[in-house]
Amino acid sequence: MRLFNTLTRKKEELKPIKKGQIGLYTCGPTVYHYAHIGNLRTYIFEDLLKRALIYDGLKVNHVMNITDVGHLTSDQDSGEDKMEVGAKRENKTAWEIAEFYTKAFQADMKKLNMLQPSKWCKATDHIKEQIELIKQLEKKGYTYKIEDGIYFDTGKLKDYGKLARLDIKGLQEGARIDVRGKKNKTDFALWKFSPDEGKRQMEWSSPFGKGFPGWHLECSAMAQKYLGNPFDIHCGGIDHIPVHHTNEIAQTEAATGKPLANMWLHGEFLIDKEGKMSKSKGDILTLSTVEEKGYDLLAYRYLCLTTHYRMPLSFSWEALDGAKNALNHLREKVQSLTIKDKKTKNSEVYQKKFKEAINDDLNMPNALATLWDALKDNTLSNADKKEIIQEADKVLGLDLANKPKTEKIPLEVIQWAKEREVARKEKDWKKSDEAREKIKQAGYSIEDSEQGFKIKKQ
Ligand code: AMP
Ligand code: ZN
Repeated sequence: MRLFNTLTRKKEELKPIKKGQIGLYTCGPTVYHYAHIGNLRTYIFEDLLKRALIYDGLKVNHVMNITDVGHLTSDQDSGEDKMEVGAKRENKTAWEIAEFYTKAFQADMKKLNMLQPSKWCKATDHIKEQIELIKQLEKKGYTYKIEDGIYFDTGKLKDYGKLARLDIKGLQEGARIDVRGKKNKTDFALWKFSPDEGKRQMEWSSPFGKGFPGWHLECSAMAQKYLGNPFDIHCGGIDHIPVHHTNEIAQTEAATGKPLANMWLHGEFLIDKEGKMSKSKGDILTLSTVEEKGYDLLAYRYLCLTTHYRMPLSFSWEALDGAKNALNHLREKVQSLTIKDKKTKNSEVYQKKFKEAINDDLNMPNALATLWDALKDNTLSNADKKEIIQEADKVLGLDLANKPKTEKIPLEVIQWAKEREVARKEKDWKKSDEAREKIKQAGYSIEDSEQGFKIKKQ
């Protein structure tokens, strides 16, 4: 398999460190809110990678962390802990917030047919390991203490910023420093002290003082514990390149003298009309919203497959409708393969093409095109087509053998229909007309009968 390595900016042949096995680390969610469908695009890309590796006969040891402390609202080590933001927003404890949104994330993964990681690990369960890592860095002279915490001195590394190819000199000259006392603009917190006044919900004693770990530290500590260094592949979204992954590399290499991972893969963003989708914008599009609108959620997975993971993907409801229709069409084709016949040799060329596409840096648009071509090819028997689909679905994860989903009526449309019913009973014709109009705008019509109303797709 050839994969694009962000570290070298080249497609490289994947060479497993241990024969037949892959160590894979994917940076997990910060569980202070629901994941938005942009976050989920990144996890779908990682799931496709994992499935493709398994398809190639490799055993994948997949570790995913849960960030439940220390991820601040600013990448510059200032601002609030996102967990405390979530706690205030919902009037719950940070621990309750973490538990609730971890479960919500895991449910989203399941709904999108993502395989479970081999190992889930939480930052708050690995405070000891993180403290150990700071102690190692301290011993080697990479740390310094300032008023608000223990920092990593990036000036001590010759190649700091190599993943992102950062212009360190330009950065140093240009930008302001958010935290007082930092030696270099790029230095980052390893351990932040609890504030003098007010108690933090999440804080621990350490040899450096009471406080909590910096966000980047957890991934270095847990990857080392569960995968060792170096391991094969580390993934995340592109926003992780300049800060989070750059700092993970700095810490691990400084502490162990070994590379963190051999290959770094990054997924491009899902964008909408306003640009990048982000949790901090507040108004986020979640999987539940998509579900409430009546969509089969695998239509979103299909949509993600239509664009290569290193290209931005624009989200619109029209695009999702297109993906939904294509997925249903594929499933109808599968259902129509009823006549029993024998396999021929003609299918091999498609199997080969499919494998080549996924092994070429996960070229899913090509893999999908191959599948469509196979289904249209009259020289293939039904048995051939069935086998091709079954094999392809091991990677695509689209439940292609399922019957096309009969469309569910969106919850909001049902709600409007109920409101209209009440308005009619109360002879509030204005309100009932308004409800009918909203239903029409959403692409549905309503018919009344003695048994009640019936909603139909227009
Ligand atoms: P977070 O929960 O904020 O730590 O983000 C979880 C994952 O989603 C990370 O790998 C991010 O790089 C990724 N991500 C954030 N925003 C987007 C987006 N708009 N499109 C795709 N991936 C994203
Ligand atoms: Zn990470």
